[in-house]
Order: sequence, then structure tokens, then C-alpha cells
Amino acid sequence: MPSLRIGGFTPFTTTDYPGLLAAVVFCQGCPWRCTYCHNPHLLPVEGPESHVWPDLLRFLESRRGLLDAVVFSGGEPTLQGALADAMRAVKALGFRIGLHSAGMYPDRLARVLPLVDWIGLDIKAPRAAYPRITGVPAAGAAVFDSLRLILGAGVDYELRCTWHPDLLSAADLASLGDELQALGADRLVLQECRPTGRASAIPPGWHDDDGVTKLAGRFRHFTLRPG
Ligand code: SF4
Repeated sequence: MPSLRIGGFTPFTTTDYPGLLAAVVFCQGCPWRCTYCHNPHLLPVEGPESHVWPDLLRFLESRRGLLDAVVFSGGEPTLQGALADAMRAVKALGFRIGLHSAGMYPDRLARVLPLVDWIGLDIKAPRAAYPRITGVPAAGAAVFDSLRLILGAGVDYELRCTWHPDLLSAADLASLGDELQALGADRLVLQECRPTGRASAIPPGWHDDDGVTKLAGRFRHFTLRPG
């Protein structure tokens, strides 16, 4: 079995696993091409590796007692068959396991979910709007299957939607609220879309957008997160 391919590493963060001090392992490779992606260098599966997994594992061993958790992010971590073994090795060091995923591989997610203590799942849009954002036809169905798995497993989670009025209209946000509530999700973070070469800056005052305000009122835990 090949080792996990790593495209980047953050040795210390207070923002990537709620309430815990964590390191973040950025896994190489993602099948989607979202218009606002901030990690284009992580998209090619065979892109250059920033770290070799055995070396990184040794570094994490030296962080025992200093960090609480290790978050696997990307790219899309579940793309890699080596993810489960990497998680087991990190868990054996005593760290909590975090996972950032866009949820496009529910079967692979199901295999690693028992190892995960907290997951941040990207919910990019209501089902019908997924192709517009990801460039992939029917991309949303798999994501909502992943969400069902997460809710059924009872694992601690956060749903994160990156928002820009050019991406998701008030009607899209209303549909998103309907679809998430129908599954029983009660935690949503709406995060400001940061400008990239293909996405413009979000207009000031976005927190007061009517669609955003209505969406906020539908969730027990709702957070607006600046980009
Ligand atoms: S799923 Fe995430 S990593 Fe993949 S293209 Fe979209 S934003 Fe980038």
C-alpha cells in the first residue's frame, strides 16, 4: 500500500479543529474544480509532495503532549486509499482525528468514519446547484449521501458552506436550508468566499443579506465566518 501523499502541512493551528490545538495534513489530489478553490496546487493527484509521510509521522510523535489533534484536509483526503492507515497511526499516538472533506466519496468516507472524532463537511450548495460550483454533473447526490452517513454515525460535525451572492442566490440558500433540515442537520457555518482569480470579492455587508439572515434563523447552531 503506498503512503499518504501530502501536499502541505501546518504544524500548529487553533482554527481547524473546534476548541483543540491541531496540526493539519493537506492531502494531495481532488477530483473537483470549484470556482473558488484556494488550494489549486493540491488538485493533481500526482502533484509534488511537500512531505514524506513516515517523516511527518515522526514529527507528529514529537508533538505528543503539545497538540490535541491532527486534521486531515486537502485536496480531498478520502481520495487516497492510504488515509485509513495514516489515521490509525496518528490515533495510536494519542491524537484526536479531524477530517475536512467535500464528501464526494461516501463509500470511502464510511470506511474511515469510525476513526474520525470530528468532521468538517463542505456543503457547497443545494443538490441541484452542485454542478455549477464543482464543474461535475450530479456531484451533489454523493455529498448528501455522505451527510446521511455522518448524521447516522453520531460523529461530531460541522457543515461549512462557502457563500458568495454570485454563487448562491437567496432561493439557493432557502433550498439548502430545506435539504439540510430534512436530514436533521442542525449545525451550519456560512463562510465568506475569499476572492480568487475566478471569484470576485464578496460585497461588504454580506452578513445582512436577506437570504443569509433567513438561513441563519433555521439552524440551532449557525455561524458566519469571515473569509
Ligand atoms: S472540493 Fe475543495 S479542494 Fe477540491 S476543488 Fe473544491 S474547494 Fe478545491
